[in-house]
Amino acid sequence: MNIGFIGLGNMGGPMALNLLKAGHALTVFDLVPASVHSLTAAGATAVASPAELARSEVQVIITMLPAARHVKAVYLSEDGLLAHIAKGVRLIDSSTIDPMTAREVAAAAAQQGNPMLDAPVSGGTGGAAAGTLTFMVGGSVDDFEHAQPLLAAMGKNIVHCGAAGNGQVAKVANNMLLGISMIGVAEAMNLGVALGMDAKVLAGVINTSSGRCWSSDTYNPFPGVLDSAPAARGYSGGFGTDLMLKDLGLATEAAKQAQQPVLLGALAQQLYQSFSAQGHGGLDFSAIIKLYQHDA
Ligand code: NAD
Repeated sequence: MNIGFIGLGNMGGPMALNLLKAGHALTVFDLVPASVHSLTAAGATAVASPAELARSEVQVIITMLPAARHVKAVYLSEDGLLAHIAKGVRLIDSSTIDPMTAREVAAAAAQQGNPMLDAPVSGGTGGAAAGTLTFMVGGSVDDFEHAQPLLAAMGKNIVHCGAAGNGQVAKVANNMLLGISMIGVAEAMNLGVALGMDAKVLAGVINTSSGRCWSSDTYNPFPGVLDSAPAARGYSGGFGTDLMLKDLGLATEAAKQAQQPVLLGALAQQLYQSFSAQGHGGLDFSAIIKLYQHDA
């Protein structure tokens, strides 16, 4: 298949490479020449703008951009995709953005005959490189079925979440819960250790009891509990605090639109905000445990 790909960063770069490896022809665009180069070196063709990509012979265009404003610029601006694309070309946006923007862009695309899916991912840069991402997909059943083989070249778990925007709904709900649960685990671990327990023993009890969750058994924030977690390497790598902050912002904004209270989500957002303001935005989000430690 002839595929266009825009946004070749930490996630988009390895995802695009997996499409090449699966035998697809790829035409790519990014604002950063070095990112484009790493794809052309692997066999992709480069173009100079989203408009040029839209006018090329592609059947599907995938985007993986930082935030809603970039998605709007790439799809809706004068030299963006929709102004230049042929009817029938399929669109997939895998960026994590708010559900409302995803629905707005999908509606604009549908109006001119371009089926669009929102397909945000989880699994991080490791999952992007290994081709094991989870895709949470919003859009029609037909469009989902059409995209499935393509997404399978980049991911392992591909879930249809409902109509346009629902992929983003699943993503913000999951990440809000993750942000909250990480703070809960940090608080409980610190309490137990402050009261005299060994951190590993405490984690072992939690992980075989009702407090168990991904933040406790796979990504425990307390140093020394898990060799594989960012806590074992000074909270470097992993999922950055500022990215978690962005996702909590999406959740609280979406909650406002839905007039749905997210009391713990809003509190979690403030805690990550204050941690980021202390200069820790680049650390993995599990470093939030430092808020509970006296040397923070
Ligand atoms: P990134 O910043 O590494 O990559 C984004 C790329 O988009 C950059 O190469 C940038 O140059 C390009 N870009 C920005 N504006 C552009 C434009 N107008 N035209 C063309 N290219 C443009 O970000 P990332 O880590 O790859 O994340 C991408 C998305 O995936 C984000 O929405 C993020 O929240 C989400 N996400 C990231 C992770 C992760 O672990 N990094 C995990 C899951 C989801």
